Parts: sequence; C-alpha cells; structure tokens
Amino acid sequence: MSNKSFAERDLKVLWHPCTQMKDHEILPLIPIKSGDGVWLEDFEGKRYLDAISSWWVNLFGHCNPIIKDALKQQLDTLEHVMMGGFTHSAAIELSEKLIAISPKGLNKCFYSDNGSSAVEIALKMSFQSWRNQGFSKKTKFITLENSYHGETLGALAVSNVALYKDTFASLLMDTITIPNADAYFRAEGETAAAYAQRRFVEVDKQLAQNAEFCCAVIIEPLVQCAGNMRMYDPIYLSLLRAACDKYELHLIADEVAVGFGRTGSLFACEQANISPDFLCVAKGLTGGFLPLAVTLTTDKIYQSFYDDYEHLTGFFHSHSYTGNALGCRAGIATLGIFQEQNVIVTNQLLAKKMSAVTARFKQHPNVAEVRQTGMIVAIELVKNKHTREPFPWQERRGLKVYQYALSQGVILRPLGNVIYFMPPYVITDMQLEWIAEVAWQGMLLAVAD
Ligand code: PMP
Repeated sequence: MSNKSFAERDLKVLWHPCTQMKDHEILPLIPIKSGDGVWLEDFEGKRYLDAISSWWVNLFGHCNPIIKDALKQQLDTLEHVMMGGFTHSAAIELSEKLIAISPKGLNKCFYSDNGSSAVEIALKMSFQSWRNQGFSKKTKFITLENSYHGETLGALAVSNVALYKDTFASLLMDTITIPNADAYFRAEGETAAAYAQRRFVEVDKQLAQNAEFCCAVIIEPLVQCAGNMRMYDPIYLSLLRAACDKYELHLIADEVAVGFGRTGSLFACEQANISPDFLCVAKGLTGGFLPLAVTLTTDKIYQSFYDDYEHLTGFFHSHSYTGNALGCRAGIATLGIFQEQNVIVTNQLLAKKMSAVTARFKQHPNVAEVRQTGMIVAIELVKNKHTREPFPWQERRGLKVYQYALSQGVILRPLGNVIYFMPPYVITDMQLEWIAEVAWQGMLLAVAD
C-alpha cells in the first residue's frame, strides 16, 4: 500500500484538526505506519524525526517499551470502569504519585481526558467553590494577553490567540485580560525580570479593581506555547501568586504543555517556587500514549464542596472516560521513567545542546529572536530584524519551513513564522545537530525573495 492510497481513503472520510482541509490539495497528508523512539515511518519506508513530540505529548519516544509493557499488563486486568461509585488501583496509584511530585498543597486529583477539559474543570471548580462559600458575585475569570488554554468554549473564552478565538467570540463568556510579561517586548538592555516587574504594576492595579467580581487568574507558567512560544521570567508567577492571595483570587496554573520536565524542572511552577490552587496537566502525562488529563487542587477547595447532599454543593461534572485505567497505567509508567532515569538532569544537558545548535540563527537578518526555556527553543522569523516588522501572515513562510523539513525527514510544524523544537527527551545530540541544520536550510528557503 502506498502513502497516496491511504491519503486518498483518509480524505474521503476524515476531517483533520486545526487544518484548512483545502490545503491538502497541495500538501500531501502523511500516513504513518509505525513509530519507534524519535522516529515515525510512513507506508513507503520514509522516516521522519518527530522534533515537536507530536503536538508536545511524546516525552520518551514512540512505542516506548516501558510504557507499552505496563499497558499490556493493564490490558489483561482491567480496561476501564466508571469512576462514579467505583475506583481502581491504577487511578489511586497515579494520584498518589502525582500528589507526591506536584507543588505542595495540591492533594486531590480530578481526572478527565484532554487538556481543554482539565481547564474547564478548574474554571468550574473555582467558580463553584466561591459560590459554595457564599461569594456569588465572583463570576468572571482573568486571563493573560496571548494566552491559550484549549478549544472548548470555556477554555477558548480564557484564551487570547485571535486565530482560534475571534471566529467564536460572540459565543464566549466575557473575561478580563491582563498584561503578560512576554520578554519579546522588553526594552533594549532591560532584563526579562525587570520587564516582568514593570508590567506587573498594571497587572496589580487590574487585579485590585476586578477581584470582587472574579474567581481566578489562569496562566500558562513560563511559556505561552500556542501563542508562538513566547516566554517570560518566573518572577511574574511569584508576583501573581502573592497578588492572588492578597486579592482573594484563585490561581490556575495550566501546565498542559509545559508540565513534566519540558521547561527544565518537573513543573514550571517550581521555578517560581509557587503552588497554584489548581494545576492542570495532560499531554505528556501518559508519555504520549493515551488521552488523560488531571486537575489537581487543594484540600481547601475540596472542603468547600464537601457537605450533605441536600445542599447541592457537590461537583456534578463527569466525563465517561474519567480516570480510564489504561491511561492511568500509562501515567504511572511515565512517572516511573522520571523517577528511575534522572530525566531532569538529562534534559538540562539536552537543553544546553539545543542552545548551542541554534546559536547561529541569532545573527541571521530575518531572525528577531532565538529564545529558550529548557527543552523548548523558538526562532522568530521576521521581515526586518531591526524593526521586527513581521512577514505578512498570508505569505505563510513557516509553511515553507514545514515542507522543506518534511522533505528531509524532520517534522517541524512552525507556529506562524516561529520555528520551534520541542523534541522527545530521548533525542540525541547528533539528532539535535541535524534538525537544526534542516531548520537552517528550511529557513534560508523560506525567507528568500
Ligand atoms: N492548555 C495548554 C497550555 C495547551 O497548550 C493546550 C493544547 N495545546 C491545551 C490546554 C488543550 O489541551 P488539549 O489539546 O489536550 O485539549
């Protein structure tokens, strides 16, 4: 069977995510037959290095044998049972492990099956917690400029990436948007930390003004991934935690993309030494094997729901696959790899290599910035390095990088004109050198003319 025949069958019956399907008139869809480590292989034997971890989910390589073996055992025991009224050992064990490794104070786990749902759950819990305590005026959410928290209507409402949000704006709940501390916009000679502190003056004012009517602030710690991999200093998180305490707002940390070692620490919040009231995780939780998400919260929040049934203060929210046993088992295996293999230290070394292999991009006249947080490196392409005038988005320069990289056997899927690497943690130094070379050649092609 050829790639072409699979692609033709696919296009008759499937509708792909985040895609203008007409693009596939010119962009071939790539059917994947198998995966092995950082590699994916198509039906004609061509291999692709997955440099963006399949939308950031894959931590330890495709078909990782440890996770696969754990799943095989679970398959022989229990595939799934509803969590209303029932439980199972995988969900209990995973929760115990998650609570042990996550920022202190988070000690209850509520499961769902994707990052957007984990966010919806945090929003609903925050709202209802205040309501249960008699604060019925608290109904709104505070979010950051350029944020992204998922595609369902609640998660989209607290997001601020125009491409995903604007079409649906009239459907979405009203939110309050506060300044972020995107270091891309710091003044010349200003540190990211100083910029964050400067920006926080306005943030503090807005929090003070709105807290009475607001439930929580939601934030992507350290990196706004879908918002073009924009990064900011951890001090913003520390200031935000303190302000949320001062003004009685919950803090929701959405670590769906940055959790599990991606930023150089197990959770990004650790770098600011803070604990949120809600922590949302998904993506890498199962090592990229199965859809599973968790919203962790505190005993204090949990207790605000705990009462006699007639008071109707329970959290009446469910998903059919909540706490799926296979997903939980993959999660336990994934956390086991962290525990046994010194992953954070390895990642710190890999991050150094990522920095070295992308250093030469900094000098290029069409690169405004090369930025990095741990295992995320982003290269921002612009028309003019000095004014930072962007390329018109309609020119789709990033797509040219994507196409070139594919031809060379590397999967890079730029966000607009931002090329980024977010590889599985099992990538080697040599592979990093190679993907950087491919990105370099792709960039030269994309910015020509
Ligand atoms: N939050 C963040 C920070 C994300 O990056 C994403 C997905 N890219 C989501 C939430 C939504 O997760 P999912 O795609 O699993 O719904």
